[in-house]
Amino acid sequence: RAKLDGRNTFRFFTPEMQAQSVRALQLENALRRALEREQFHLHYQPQMNLATGTVRSVEALLRWQHPQLGPISPGEFIPIAEDSGQILQIGEWVLRTALAQLKAWRSCGFPELTMAVNLSAIQFRQPQLPELVSRVLVEFDLPPDSLELELTEGVAVDDPHAAVATMDQLHARGVRMSMDDFGTGYSSLSQLKRFQIFKLKIDQSFVRDLGNDSNDRAIVSAIIRMAQALGMRTTAEGVETESQLAFLHEQGCDEAQGYHFSTPLPAEQLERFMRQHTAAH
Ligand code: C2E
Ligand code: MG
Ligand code: MG
Ligand code: MG
Repeated sequence: RAKLDGRNTFRFFTPEMQAQSVRALQLENALRRALEREQFHLHYQPQMNLATGTVRSVEALLRWQHPQLGPISPGEFIPIAEDSGQILQIGEWVLRTALAQLKAWRSCGFPELTMAVNLSAIQFRQPQLPELVSRVLVEFDLPPDSLELELTEGVAVDDPHAAVATMDQLHARGVRMSMDDFGTGYSSLSQLKRFQIFKLKIDQSFVRDLGNDSNDRAIVSAIIRMAQALGMRTTAEGVETESQLAFLHEQGCDEAQGYHFSTPLPAEQLERFMRQHTAAH
C-alpha cells in the first residue's frame, strides 16, 4: 500500500507504520470523548527558587487515563490533538483547571504562587488567545502575572512577526511567558531579542550530562549569562541529582525543576510537598 505525501513522493507502509497509524486513529477517536468522560487530569511539578529553596511556581502537566488503553503520555497524544484541532478545547480545559487550582492554593497559604501552563503552537496562533487568557484570569480573580505561559520555539517558525505581535499583546495584558525546551528549537537569537520572554527554560537534554560533559556545562552557563544580560530569568529542567543542582546554583540559575525535588504530582500531594518546603524554611 502506498500513500502520496505532501511532497508528491510515494511512501510505503511497513506493518509497523500501519500499526502506528491504526493506534493514532484509535487515539484520535478516543480523544473526542476524553473531555466529556473526564479522563483528563492535571499533575503539578514544583519549580524551586534556588535562592530561597521554596516553591515559586508549579507547572501543570496534562495526564490522560483511558479505561481500556491505560495511561497515554502527552508526548503521544498532544501531537494527535494538534493535528485534529482538538488541542484548542483541551488547552482551554487545561488553562481553566490549572487556574482554578491556583486560585485555591493562593487562598489557602500560598498567596504568591504562580502557575505555568504549556501552550501548543496551535493555541498560540489563535487570534482570540490573548482575550481568552484575560477572560479566564478575570473569571478566577487572579492577577495576570500569576500565570506563566510556556511556549516552545516552534511558535515562531512559520510567522515570526505574528509571534512577536501575539507576545506583545500578552505582555501588555501582564501575562508572563517562558520559552520551554530552550536551545532545542529553531528560533534564532535575532528573534529572541524581540520576544517578550520572562524566563528561559533550559532543556533537560543539556542538564542530563552536566556531570561528565564539559560542552553541556559550557552551553548551560552561556545560556544563564545570556539570559541575565537580556533581563530574563532561567529555570533548569530535568534536574535529577545534587551535583547538577550545585553546578546550576553556582552558575546563577534562578530556578530548577526535576525529579531531584519532585516528580509531577496530583494536587493534594503537591500541596503536602509545598507545606513541607515552607515549613523547612
Ligand atoms: P515540558 O513542558 O518540557 O515538560 C517537562 C517534561 O519533563 C514532563 O514530561 C515532565 O514530567 C518531565 N520531567 C520533569 N522532571 C524530569 C526529570 O527530572 N527527568 C526527566 N527525565 N523528565 C522530567 P510530560 O509530563 O510527559 O510532558 C511532556 C511534554 O508534553 C511537555 O514537555 C509539554 O511539551 C507537553 N505537555 C504536557 N502537558 C501539556 C499541556 O497541558 N498542553 C500542551 N500543549 N502540552 C503539554
Ligand atoms: Mg513545559
Ligand atoms: Mg521542557
Ligand atoms: Mg518538552
